[in-house]
Amino acid sequence: LIVLDQVNKRYGDLHVLRNVSLRVRRGEVVVIIGPSGAGKSTLCRAINRLETIDSGTITVDGTPLPEEGRALARLRAEVGMVFQSFNLFAHKTVLDNVVLGQVHVLGKPRAAAEATARALLERVGIGAQAAKFPAQLSGGQQQRVAIARALAMEPKVILFDEPTSALDPEMVNEVLDVMTSLAREGMTMVVVTHEMGFARRAADRVVFMADGEIVEQAGPETFFGSPSSQRAQSFLDKIL
Ligand code: ATP
Ligand code: MG
Repeated sequence: LIVLDQVNKRYGDLHVLRNVSLRVRRGEVVVIIGPSGAGKSTLCRAINRLETIDSGTITVDGTPLPEEGRALARLRAEVGMVFQSFNLFAHKTVLDNVVLGQVHVLGKPRAAAEATARALLERVGIGAQAAKFPAQLSGGQQQRVAIARALAMEPKVILFDEPTSALDPEMVNEVLDVMTSLAREGMTMVVVTHEMGFARRAADRVVFMADGEIVEQAGPETFFGSPSSQRAQSFLDKIL
């Protein structure tokens, strides 16, 4: 579904993505881990074309990433993104946060968009919060709004960039539970996270990045049981 081939990205002298090649199949859950500065966020942002790349190719469902305009808006609908910082519209209600993209990007009538939004808010366990504003919700609830908003666009894949890193510990699981159930339902997901429990439980494949490179990738059993690179081993020693 997503194919990156020999992708390179530099910020000035800093080479943040080095010949990154990665394939994500339909229905697959790929968890990306690695130290700070490895290029994990840059990789996610490149797939959504929030960042340009210097060389290489990225295709989603066989189509190269569009440059701009409506095609780009459609790409961002197809490739949902959930950020560490939620990025909700602060001055819109929870319901509107989930409705607006459906109306403006997918061209759905307001009533149908609202029905979808209410169903999705129920599904992520916050149906009762629809009329509130984001600031009136806990972090875990806000992140579940962000997930509902991504789902409302009927995405082919959702990219999660450290979706639980900004949350108080007691709210982490409510978000991971929603993500785990999405994974079980067959959603294609790319998840950058430090939650190794989630990686073990939900990942089909773990990708370890360091210094802009994919150092190794393997199924979670293999990766956590016996990583093949020294760098992955020392990363795991530090965090587990
Ligand atoms: P973290 O775990 O801390 O989120 P990461 O793996 O997501 O790290 P990136 O955010 O992709 O890392 O950053 C990779 C490198 O690129 C870092 O050294 C970062 O400082 C640098 N970088 C990221 N964005 C920019 C930018 N807009 N301009 C310059 N340098 C940047
Ligand atoms: Mg990051």
